[in-house]
Amino acid sequence: MSESLPAPAPESAPELAAEKAAAARRALRTWRRADVGQRVEALRGVWRALAARRAELSAVIREETGKPAAEIELAEFGSASLLVDYFSSNARRLLDERPAWTPWLFLNKRAAVRRLPRGVVGIISPWNMPFLIPFGDSFCAMLAGNAVLLKPSEWTTKTALWIESAVAGTGLLPEGLLSVVPGRAAAGERVVDASDLVLFTGSCAAGRAVAQRAAGRLKPAILELGGKHPMIVLADAPLERAAAAAVWGACSNMGQLCVGVERVFVEGEVHDALVEKIRTRLAALRTTGDDAELGRFVFPPLLERAHAQLEDALKKGARVIGGEVLDRAGLRMAPALVLDARMDMAVMGEETFGPVLPVMKVARAEEAVALCNEGALGLAASVWSRDLEKAESLSSELEAGMVGVNEPGTHYAFGALPFGGVKSSGLWRRHGDEGLLALTQSQSVLVHEWPRDAADPWWFPYERRKTALLARLLGLP
Ligand code: NAD
Repeated sequence: MSESLPAPAPESAPELAAEKAAAARRALRTWRRADVGQRVEALRGVWRALAARRAELSAVIREETGKPAAEIELAEFGSASLLVDYFSSNARRLLDERPAWTPWLFLNKRAAVRRLPRGVVGIISPWNMPFLIPFGDSFCAMLAGNAVLLKPSEWTTKTALWIESAVAGTGLLPEGLLSVVPGRAAAGERVVDASDLVLFTGSCAAGRAVAQRAAGRLKPAILELGGKHPMIVLADAPLERAAAAAVWGACSNMGQLCVGVERVFVEGEVHDALVEKIRTRLAALRTTGDDAELGRFVFPPLLERAHAQLEDALKKGARVIGGEVLDRAGLRMAPALVLDARMDMAVMGEETFGPVLPVMKVARAEEAVALCNEGALGLAASVWSRDLEKAESLSSELEAGMVGVNEPGTHYAFGALPFGGVKSSGLWRRHGDEGLLALTQSQSVLVHEWPRDAADPWWFPYERRKTALLARLLGLP
């Protein structure tokens, strides 16, 4: 018998976003005056308090998403811990005022760059990593001195409200610094309107709408959107690792990962051997019971989309192994392997977001690179070969924001690596130096130091002789 699944949160009251934004702006007055060291200390304390209560939070996430406990512990909390560590250790290097290069003509002046917060950062997040994405993004935004208005997915609202209340309960941050605005698309729109910068993670369609709305108000929007990770497997690949990665990459989080493996291109010589290994591993996955390794879909259209793609593939001549619905009401399906996949099949071009693994035979890996680059999405991709030099060189030809060599995509846990996509997969990056800096705005500072009371020679009055001398000093020919 299937468990009863949670329903999505309703739209929130129209005035809520403005009220929460006002509270966030009040909190900002105190928070922006805290120096980077103070912010680091407070936010580390917040993380410690939340991590200590993670069994409680894990139960909420499990109820909302049906994820296996191991995925909550490692992917949600483990990755968050690594991000907290990286960003709190690097905050001062990135956020403290730093001197800027000064042309010799201005040696009597001091130039520096300050990093100021943007103000209120609107974080609009999806349901697939309901703790890691909103918490990690909020942590970075607050570290950079901002307040946060968080619009969680309507499917994982309880998790976000738990975070809001647990953060407030620590008493370490000004009241209202992290405020949650529950609801659906309309709540998201109000958060865009009430924020100074938007950090959106979600589908390409909603990302486009958010970017247009933000642009209309001259606000920047960082967009982290969908992907279609191609694994390109060369004839000399470490096949056992490649097969294990294909199965884990396609099925962990029930395939609901933006960087999850969504298709395999394999050179003909090793096609059959790789497929055999993948089949064995898929068959060994535990799909039911308390220790199931495969979770469930978070909401019904995902099951329908996966099956529509499988039917389309079958109609176009593919062979499908597995993929049976295990529990329609409980949104569970067996993982599916799609053989003889071709590029005209939806399963090879459109994001599936489910445990479906199409495999396409190619003569040479370069052919796969060209096929992938023709597509609209460019988030994560990987190349598999024992020849690391060749694999790295091929990976640099891929139009993707993140590439792996014999690595299915653990980029998110590496705080130093910018995370994001190219083409329709997104704009700008989270994480890395550039990701943290994007949550700030620069203030360029010039201080005239000496001689205290004299005018600069290029000010009035203009005199031919003075201009000629300065031009010579500036190296004008
Ligand atoms: P979604 O676009 O349906 O929703 C994302 C969020 O946007 C939700 O909070 C939703 O309520 C809100 N929203 C929807 N329409 C909006 C609008 N017009 N204005 C403002 N807010 C709006 O996406 P989803 O189903 O929650 O998430 C799955 C998608 O997210 C997949 O495509 C996946 O690849 C992508 N994703 C990307 C990354 C990344 O970092 N690139 C990470 C995780 C998920």
